[in-house]
Amino acid sequence: MEALKESVQYIKGIGPKRYALLNRLGIYTIEDAISYYPRDYEVWGAVEPIEALEKGKESSIVARFKGRAHGIRSGRLNILKWTAYDKTGEVQCIWYNQPYRMNQYKEGKEYFIRGKVEIRYGEIQIIMPEVEEYRPKKHDNPKILPIYPLTKGLTQKIMQQLIYKALKRIDTNLYDFLPSSIRRDYGLAEKNFALYNIHFPKNRHSFKEARRRLIFEELFFVNMGLRLIKKESQEQVEGIMFDWDQGIIESFIADLPFELTRAQARVVDEILLDIRSGKVANRLIQGDVGSGKTILAAIALYASVLSGYQGAFMVPTEILANQHFQSLTRLFSNTTLKIECITGGMGKRQKSSLRQSLKNGEIDIIIGTHSLLQDDITFDRLGIVVTDEQHRFGVRQRAVILSKGQNPHILVMSATPIPRTLSLILYGDLDISIIDELPPGRRPIETYHVPPALSERVYKFVKRQVLEGRQAYIVCPLIEESDIMDLTAATRLY
Ligand code: ADP
Ligand code: MG
Repeated sequence: MEALKESVQYIKGIGPKRYALLNRLGIYTIEDAISYYPRDYEVWGAVEPIEALEKGKESSIVARFKGRAHGIRSGRLNILKWTAYDKTGEVQCIWYNQPYRMNQYKEGKEYFIRGKVEIRYGEIQIIMPEVEEYRPKKHDNPKILPIYPLTKGLTQKIMQQLIYKALKRIDTNLYDFLPSSIRRDYGLAEKNFALYNIHFPKNRHSFKEARRRLIFEELFFVNMGLRLIKKESQEQVEGIMFDWDQGIIESFIADLPFELTRAQARVVDEILLDIRSGKVANRLIQGDVGSGKTILAAIALYASVLSGYQGAFMVPTEILANQHFQSLTRLFSNTTLKIECITGGMGKRQKSSLRQSLKNGEIDIIIGTHSLLQDDITFDRLGIVVTDEQHRFGVRQRAVILSKGQNPHILVMSATPIPRTLSLILYGDLDISIIDELPPGRRPIETYHVPPALSERVYKFVKRQVLEGRQAYIVCPLIEESDIMDLTAATRLY
């Protein structure tokens, strides 16, 4: 529908100044306006006779002003007091610092008056009331008014009027994207009804129906999006079909200084099956710290090299890059594999010679930090990308490294379990291998969550460990104290 894309600037009452304010709330078009849902509602009860008013309650009356308003000065306060009456009694309307009110209303005319009722000095008062010309159709019934998130310079009234007019512009002609069969099956309200009633509910029931419909719609489209992603990733492009001499891999594993745990052996099988299937492998290796993920990465990289491809091993820190470089160099010391490491702290000359041998294919396995992502890093034939501590990389960084090859296989390793839905969103679809076993003789790592109230006990425990000759480290969210975030800084804790 075309009206949806119209600018709200052309709605009566919205000049360039208000338009700019609305932009701050993300409202540019009619569509933005009608999709700007209230954060709460104000319920106006039915109009009451003055004799029935109760102290402390927001109330509505229909009454006329009597005689003239009285202005009273009290220090810097200008108090305006005007008596209003209906057939059953009188109230005093009180305004602070709004003397102009006295020129806005006429004696003897019927008004709808709404505000908080107080009883003071033996009088019934309505404090700072809103006053509108009384119109029976508008005011006689109880009303539910939307309350919107605002920005400075806008009022609820402006927003209410804008959105009301935007809805009028649409005039219930919106196309309903939810098929009527689904609406029928789930007993869902129609779109135009839902939109109108989420802003201006006719009554409590209409509000509930509107809300239910709109929530369903949001979840429905998120779910559809996820299914589309999954479908796309299943129709994925062909991957490189690795082909290697399995005998070499087997003797490599046999020559390791330790025997693979059963979990590691299972995951090795899963990985190797994946990378020779002809589809692009997209696999998360999830296992606790110390479960032995590095050796699995090494085996996968080895299979890649034996198949004639280069492998990249991406890690989040320089320390980790150097550690992996050392252990892989040791692991492959009996082979002719050329392994290199690239980090940010490296000299220019050294870097450029690395780049060269990576590009012409001399390097088989490159281990590196974010430096691997730089534009000038190119491969001869990148076949697999392994990322360690995957959760510390962003989706975009992953895309950059993948673009350096032609559909390379992907292995991501993490000690952090990733929920299924999230993995679907982040990776399209991800196969998951879990190492649920630690190498023998290893004491499992124990992890505790302790509330701040018990921090003394934690520090006592740390102290005892240290006195027994052990070490400890404490991780803080910040290095130095910040005005913006209330987090413990390392310098303060130190
Ligand atoms: P993480 O999963 O935390 O990355 P690592 O791969 O760094 O764990 O392995 C931790 C240590 O365990 C390393 O020193 C590694 O050599 C050793 N290790 C890995 N697998 C085994 C195993 N099957 N038996 C004994 N030690 C192993
Ligand atoms: Mg590790």
